[in-house]
Amino acid sequence: MEGNTSKSTYLPETRVISGMRASGKLHLGHYFGALQNWVKLQKDHQCFYFVANWHGLTTHYQSPEVVEESCMDMLIDWLAAGVDPQKSVIFIQSQIPQHAELHLLLSMITPLSWLERTPSYKDQREQIKDKDLSTYGFLGYPLLQSADILMYRSTWVPVGEDQAAHIEITREIARRFNHIYGNDDKTKQRLDQLLKSMSGEEQKIFQAKRRSYLEQGDKSGYADAREILLNGNYDPEDLLILLGYLDATGKVILPLPQALIGEFAKMPGTDGRKMSKSYGNTILLRDSEDEISKKIKVMPTDPARVRRNDKGNPEKCPVWEWHKIYSDDDTRKWVDEGCRSAGIGCLDCKKRLSDRVCAEQKPFLQRATVYQDDKAQLINVLEDGRAKATEEAEQTLKQVRALMGVGI
Ligand code: SF4
Repeated sequence: MEGNTSKSTYLPETRVISGMRASGKLHLGHYFGALQNWVKLQKDHQCFYFVANWHGLTTHYQSPEVVEESCMDMLIDWLAAGVDPQKSVIFIQSQIPQHAELHLLLSMITPLSWLERTPSYKDQREQIKDKDLSTYGFLGYPLLQSADILMYRSTWVPVGEDQAAHIEITREIARRFNHIYGNDDKTKQRLDQLLKSMSGEEQKIFQAKRRSYLEQGDKSGYADAREILLNGNYDPEDLLILLGYLDATGKVILPLPQALIGEFAKMPGTDGRKMSKSYGNTILLRDSEDEISKKIKVMPTDPARVRRNDKGNPEKCPVWEWHKIYSDDDTRKWVDEGCRSAGIGCLDCKKRLSDRVCAEQKPFLQRATVYQDDKAQLINVLEDGRAKATEEAEQTLKQVRALMGVGI
């Protein structure tokens, strides 16, 4: 491999990448489904977060204005939610053209059937009837996503369980790439020497852990074997060869990422269905107190409570689902008892909820104001993110171009 690959710069110990499609202002479903987790992750990991505006085009290619407007709105929403530009690299996908280049280069080695069998490809084509999705962009979307991830040599990709298949295809592509381009004779000879240079005991433990991982999918075996290599004081180039051997591919050029499956709170919409812009049941991250209060006031309740003195059952009421997320134990007790005994009215119950939601969102609005009032600050965040992301992207692409014979 060419270049100044080092353990610390080429193989980050712990790096997270995640993106969000540019498709409109963010609501609480996005917050509880992803952003809240992003904010937590930046405490312990180096995080790269990007606005996936090219991904937005895969389904919104006929409404580019939505994609364009969404970018800045989305960024302000992230910053409002607590994504910190001092800790995380924040950028817009289309500002890093290397994503398109890596997508193209990986398309040369990706079997068509891998894309056609992606579960979301079939599902979404069947479900989304109002758009023509028989495009290459839509078929190739998981590959673009793989390029997004592999570009930054990320170790972790936070996803919900339903998206784990997308990470699996990314791992398959990385494995295939490393196998094709990381297996030349020189590498094989060096691998032989490296394995022989291990002490007898170390070799025995390492091989046992590797077998356990490869034959039984034992993740702790993988982690232990990897640890042995990382602690082995190897030259960075040699380490990549050994890590590739651990994965039963060639030398690691594109590290295999892992899905970081999160337990996400399911945020229902104001009507009890899934929160979605298309259902008109959202509360936006930057709704004002007045807007929040109005939306909560018209939430449906237990149909049994027609009059103030009718007793109700919170389990039949969407407002209760929100109290479960936002309210403390005392308030929940107050709602449960008051609803069942008709001791409280629905308006009282909603008012308490509304106050809680507004209190939670107050810091969002305060943080957003800084960027809304001073666009230059937002541009600075983006410029800084673009520079850092470009530097990392180029490191990967230098290797990939050279190995694929297009590095001149
Ligand atoms: S009191 Fe609260 S939980 Fe009970 S029906 Fe009314 S809004 Fe729903």
